Amino acid sequence: MPHKRLYAPPPKGHGPDRLAAAMDPASFEEPQAARPLTEAEAAWLRARLHGRLILPGEEGYAENSRVFNKRYRPRPDAIVNAADEADVAVCLAFVREADMAFRVRGGGHNFAGYSGGPGMVIDLTLLDTITLDPQAATVTVGGGCPQGRLGDLLAQSGFHLPLGDWPSVGVGGYMQGGGYGLTSRSFGMNLDHVRSLRVMLADGRIVTATERENHDLWWAVRGGTGNMFGVVLSIQYGLRRISNLAEASLVWGLRTGAERAQAARVLLTLQRGYMRGDEVPHTNISCMAMFGLNDDDPAYRGPWLIVDVDHVGSEAQMQAAIAPLLALPGQVPDFDFDRLGRGTEIPPLSRHSRYVTRDLAPADWDGLLEFYATTPSTLNTLYIQAAGGPLNAIPRESAAFIHRSAAFLTFLDVFWHDGAEKEAALDYQARWGALMEPFWNGRCYQNFPDPTLVDYRAAYWGEAFPALLAVKQKYDPHAVFRFQQMLEPRPGDPDEPPVWPPRVVESLRRPIAVA
Ligand SMILES: Cc1cc2nc3c(=O)[nH]c(=O)nc-3n(C[C@H](O)[C@H](O)[C@H](O)COP(=O)(O)OP(=O)(O)OC[C@H]3O[C@@H](n4cnc5c(N)ncnc54)[C@H](O)[C@@H]3O)c2cc1C
Repeated sequence: MPHKRLYAPPPKGHGPDRLAAAMDPASFEEPQAARPLTEAEAAWLRARLHGRLILPGEEGYAENSRVFNKRYRPRPDAIVNAADEADVAVCLAFVREADMAFRVRGGGHNFAGYSGGPGMVIDLTLLDTITLDPQAATVTVGGGCPQGRLGDLLAQSGFHLPLGDWPSVGVGGYMQGGGYGLTSRSFGMNLDHVRSLRVMLADGRIVTATERENHDLWWAVRGGTGNMFGVVLSIQYGLRRISNLAEASLVWGLRTGAERAQAARVLLTLQRGYMRGDEVPHTNISCMAMFGLNDDDPAYRGPWLIVDVDHVGSEAQMQAAIAPLLALPGQVPDFDFDRLGRGTEIPPLSRHSRYVTRDLAPADWDGLLEFYATTPSTLNTLYIQAAGGPLNAIPRESAAFIHRSAAFLTFLDVFWHDGAEKEAALDYQARWGALMEPFWNGRCYQNFPDPTLVDYRAAYWGEAFPALLAVKQKYDPHAVFRFQQMLEPRPGDPDEPPVWPPRVVESLRRPIAVA
């Protein structure tokens, strides 16, 4: 049974956001504007830009200032729909000269709302070209290209790259934070496929970063997260060819203690056979504990454990690979995903993630599912994504994405519509964090930024942090690219030069190569 997307992403330009318009003010956060542009500044920009400058109060402002997570209602002082690379250079020159805060924005999906402002938003969605070179098996994409368009084109042309299944996520933001795709366990993260990057630095210089050229930047951008070193103008990927990708979704109930015990056995089976070294490396597994949301369809209310399988191979090979799962009792036959009633309106949310390396005992899996069943809201969803396999065999020093030893990544999404629900949701999420504490390896996925992390530097980057900081100081010495969880020294830390990875340390000694 092919798996279904559980939310239907709204089509681009889907009109007024009815949910946001009706929201209780206690459910969202509205950052202060930095400062309005003067008339002279706006005129200066308009005289130089090829794309559109949108100021507060102007037509299109509300639609263009929105970000994915409705928890944040940004009010940028200016939005520039950059039409080309020259526009990006104009924006950077302007914000430097005016000493104005700014954020680069691709698809706007940052969970912590970091791409929404304050100050100027440099919107890259028009930098969305895709150039496929079938002979060389490479594709070059603009820094604001949505991953759905790229995925569709690759599927039509018989090429493959690990990508997620949410079409509007921007490739630039996704790749810089890692890029976990449906086939990542088989082939690695999206960033593992990058061949070359073109990056505009704060002073407008454009540099190329490859394994050989500006190696330190090439290493750092891949995992260091966006809005950090410069604007990624384009990305060149090396592509794979795969002949078959088989999919299945298997469902177990979580409605009673007995059902949850059966589902815990499913998770234990996954842990033993699908989350480690080289067992079934072409079976990619992602699980969700979730409820059906259609009140008129109580039979589908659940909660359910849904196990999505993406197998690189034929249907028959997949059936053989997942035979141990299919043999487990309690699987719900003929599950109709359409009856779950998951809509297109996604309320404000918070996502927290935890990487887990060690094995959980059967009682631990039980405890996790029992905890999920106490959720204060049927919207809340718990995810478990298998790692291991070739994903973990990629050398740790090859990119600033260091999560190469985990068995799985788990994350909890909590949602709310008003202030009271928000409090309950965040409390539930904090209790989940406490429950995960003994299993957590101390790392979190940087593509799911969590503003509550006490030490985000250690959680996202671990031992890569000192070298990342040095790369930041080399390529953006005045910290023009700034935001809450940027690379900056930990208060009180001694100023020690990085010692790892050796190739990056060596590259840091060389001057920036500019084409
Ligand atoms: C619905 C949904 C589904 C998701 N699915 C997955 C998934 O399957 N796998 C996964 O790994 N992640 C997933 N994510 C997380 C996603 O990869 C990150 O949120 C990613 O950073 C989004 O990129 P964006 O361009 O859409 O967002 P933005 O908010 O525009 O950008 C994210 C960050 O990168 C910066 N940035 C963006 N583009 C550039 C650029 N070209 N140059 C410099 N800086 C830039 C922004 O300033 C911001 O700090 C998902 C997120 C959502 C909301």
